[in-house]
Amino acid sequence: HHPLCIVTGASSGVGLHSTKALIDKGWHVIMACRDLEKAAAAAQSLNLQRDMFDVMHLDLGSLDSVRAFHAAYRAQNRALDALVCNAATYLPQLKVPLRSPDGYEISVATNYLGHFLLANLMLEDLQKSPAPRLVTLGTVTANSEEFGGKVPIPAPADLGDFQGMKAGFKDPIAMIDGKPFKPGKAYKDSKLCCMMMSRELHARFHDRTGIVFSTLYPGCVADTPLFRNAPRLFQNIFPWFQKKITKGYVSQPLSGERVAQVVTDPDFARSGVHWSWGNRQEQGRKAFSQSLSSKATDTTRSETLWNLSAALVRID
Ligand code: NDP
Repeated sequence: HHPLCIVTGASSGVGLHSTKALIDKGWHVIMACRDLEKAAAAAQSLNLQRDMFDVMHLDLGSLDSVRAFHAAYRAQNRALDALVCNAATYLPQLKVPLRSPDGYEISVATNYLGHFLLANLMLEDLQKSPAPRLVTLGTVTANSEEFGGKVPIPAPADLGDFQGMKAGFKDPIAMIDGKPFKPGKAYKDSKLCCMMMSRELHARFHDRTGIVFSTLYPGCVADTPLFRNAPRLFQNIFPWFQKKITKGYVSQPLSGERVAQVVTDPDFARSGVHWSWGNRQEQGRKAFSQSLSSKATDTTRSETLWNLSAALVRID
């Protein structure tokens, strides 16, 4: 019997390499992906052992698709040992917002609201496991406690007073704070929401369910396809800058190793923690619990975000 993990966005980058690292540790992985052919080709590119993974369809930008994915999983009646909320889209050059089928700005819809709904639906499946974990990819750029979170280009993550969400988050609204559309900031906002979601899941459900909820920043995985829609010059310079100047660069295999550690390792069985390895890539570097900005830890704000999100994805 192999423990089972669902990884969203496993067709590329961190998610793909996490899948490999989990399989190497004897786990079975469901690769939850929007493009099944791409996922299968990605699995083949790393020679993943065929009987150790399945590919299932999930488009996180669509609430119907999240519900359909969950229904298909539930029908299999399998206990779930871990869920990794990893998928994300980053579209920094958009001039006007793209919309999800539900009418929401696409990066918040995909990176956050889809995972918010998925996490809520999966709580019951996770509780069938003896030691379940729900791991969410955070990022340094959404944490103003750290240098990477202070970079003002295009703007730091900031949810304001949730004016945009309170007004329904549909056209013409594109940002959670209700201000004019900034695509790079929309990504950072979505990741801040993911980190707040994990803390709120911990507050609401850890004691009752035993599920371990944590987030991590694996380091700057500067050469994943995440940056494929960034300007070409940026794509060429960014990995070099992260390797030589900030020394925050992490390879895709190492990022996958780190996710797999947070999913499987007894040292990471702590709930309500954001894991970081600091900004340096050193052999054998140990993870530590990184403190988050007040933007991310304010419990009243996390609760407000939770309630607004529940209304947007139509759960109680
Ligand atoms: P990639 O672009 O390589 O991978 C993103 C994955 O998400 C792809 O598999 C992509 O699928 C999938 N995805 C995008 N939109 C959807 C959708 N609507 N439904 C389902 N899947 C979708 O990026 P990374 O591997 O770099 O990023 C993975 C995670 O790591 C993200 O959460 C990111 O925020 C986080 N992270 C990344 C860092 C980095 O430096 N790269 C640093 C810190 C955190 P498809 O292949 O079909 O496009």
